[in-house]
Amino acid sequence: VKVILNDKIIDRSEAAIDIEDRGYQFGDGVYEVIRVYDGVLFTGDEHLERFYSSADKIKITVPFQKEELLELMNQLIQVNDVHDGSIYMQLTRGASPRNHVFPSADTKPVLTAYTKEVARPVESLENGVAAMVADDIRWLRCDIKSLNLLPNLLAKQAATEQGCYEAILHRNGLVTEGSASNAYIVVDGKIKTHPATNLILNGITRQVVARLCKENNIPFSEEAFTLEELRNADEIFVTSTTSEVMPVVKLDEREIGNGKPGQVTRKLQTLFVEEFESAKQA
Ligand code: PLP
Repeated sequence: VKVILNDKIIDRSEAAIDIEDRGYQFGDGVYEVIRVYDGVLFTGDEHLERFYSSADKIKITVPFQKEELLELMNQLIQVNDVHDGSIYMQLTRGASPRNHVFPSADTKPVLTAYTKEVARPVESLENGVAAMVADDIRWLRCDIKSLNLLPNLLAKQAATEQGCYEAILHRNGLVTEGSASNAYIVVDGKIKTHPATNLILNGITRQVVARLCKENNIPFSEEAFTLEELRNADEIFVTSTTSEVMPVVKLDEREIGNGKPGQVTRKLQTLFVEEFESAKQA
């Protein structure tokens, strides 16, 4: 299989990263995961936009034009013959003798990307998943899609050990998002999700869902909600690039609603499938 290393597509076995790469040593870099449906990037422009924005927020200059980068990603998808899968891309500040201070301006950022086949989680989408509540112990710039994911990993691992799909995080009783997803409640037909502040990653799936709600007159409010509202919600769902619109039917061992995916969640799932189906044709 082929991967991207900087401006080249090479064999994965030939890709080498310096042991003093700042991504490796400090998590000093940013990344994106983009879905591929039927060989076509879904919301590629939006993901690239966020990639540049994340890089900019930590003062890394992406050494490519957006069009070049998109072209490179599409080439990789083609040579690897990806059908339903994803592309992971990351950019680090580059390799330089270890020092917290940024390296000299001539240090080149390092771009890597690879693809893989990923099936849609159809069974979970159909039946819903379990989630647990956990403390959000992350830093205050969760809007940056940075490589520093330790708090997210700890939360996801705790969830997995509890037999849960996701950990839904809160700060002082206010729900922020999932460990690797955005989180939503439905109460009386109305959707609530945390506003896109520094405390969450503004998911691309979240942005698609917000637009679909607007286009279909589904009440959608960017308003933080409490753990109590979460526990008493009619429906809960989480969204991400690979989870799509994922129903949460059990929270900390208690059923949500009647323990089955709710109507609003179902409606959004249908709209979401229509959305990526029509994006494939475009
Ligand atoms: N929030 C966090 C912390 C994430 O890691 C992710 C994605 O992995 C999301 C939200 C969802 O973002 P997206 O819909 O762009 O995949």
